[in-house]
Amino acid sequence: MAAIFSITVRAGTYRGQGRSYRERVGRSGVERWFLTVLLGLSIASSAYADYQPKAELVTGNVYALVGPLGQRSPKNDGLNANFGFVVARDGVILIDSGASRLGAEKIAQAIATVTDKPVRWVVNTGSQDHRWLGNDYFAAHGAETIAMSRTAATQVQQAEGQLKGLQGFLNTRLEGTRALPAQRPLAGEEAALELGGETLRLRYTHAHFPGDAWVWLPKQRVVFSGDLVYVERLLGVMPWSSVISGQKAFLALEALQPARVVPGHGKVCDLAQARRESGDYYDFLVNKIGVAAQDMQPMSQVLDQYADLAAFRHLENYAELHRANMNRAFTEFEALP
Ligand SMILES: [Zn+2]
Repeated sequence: MAAIFSITVRAGTYRGQGRSYRERVGRSGVERWFLTVLLGLSIASSAYADYQPKAELVTGNVYALVGPLGQRSPKNDGLNANFGFVVARDGVILIDSGASRLGAEKIAQAIATVTDKPVRWVVNTGSQDHRWLGNDYFAAHGAETIAMSRTAATQVQQAEGQLKGLQGFLNTRLEGTRALPAQRPLAGEEAALELGGETLRLRYTHAHFPGDAWVWLPKQRVVFSGDLVYVERLLGVMPWSSVISGQKAFLALEALQPARVVPGHGKVCDLAQARRESGDYYDFLVNKIGVAAQDMQPMSQVLDQYADLAAFRHLENYAELHRANMNRAFTEFEALP
């Protein structure tokens, strides 16, 4: 029943978006499209049914949980992003806690397949819902929640709006979720943490959300980039993102020379892939779009000129995000004094 309901809603929504599609493909095309949607939905729902993240070894005692690339849904409990953990001497250090109580529970289950040790620390790389709304679950199970001070401050600001937004995606599966901003804010532009015999270095990126940060494990040479790096799918530039900060932070991340990068979204990768799929895109947004904005070229003309980029068009979400990303980058530069 639920599947039928969502099909009806989606088809209705699509039809509402305009006549051009129907005009292009004709009636039989619409029917074909509808059948494709039916098939696609049944495949998608079986693929995400009871979606459970799996722990994947990155190196030594470091693991990643690589989430699906698509949107938040009741099936994936908002775990459409990457998380990770370090099995330390005295307990587990979790990097990011998921978007809900039920999502956090699934993360805890994934960790339990690797170790019996409890999650004693949660470190948030950001303030977007899936980075921190599982904090409360882990805190209730004895963990200390930690983030850079500006990350925690943005969590406080975002809490109410994010819970409201998630309600639309997760429905009843959001029940029991309480926003708990990181309880131990870290001062300074960079911070070093010693937890259970492990060293973590945090540094602001300020790219996707103000106050976003990365977590660098110098001993293992692994960086959890948070939403600074996306691979396989195009990174999203939000109205509050900064591509200027993103470009700077990416250069600083390169200087670390990490052996492995756990991106915010997409599979665990090496630095070269992170450079191609995120670093080069920040460079494009700053060096082409930003420069055109500062030259006061007309925005729509600039966006048309760069609409089709061979280097990035294979990435998922390109069609949905690329133009809006350019628009926001242009706007960021236009607003510069
Ligand atoms: Zn994200």
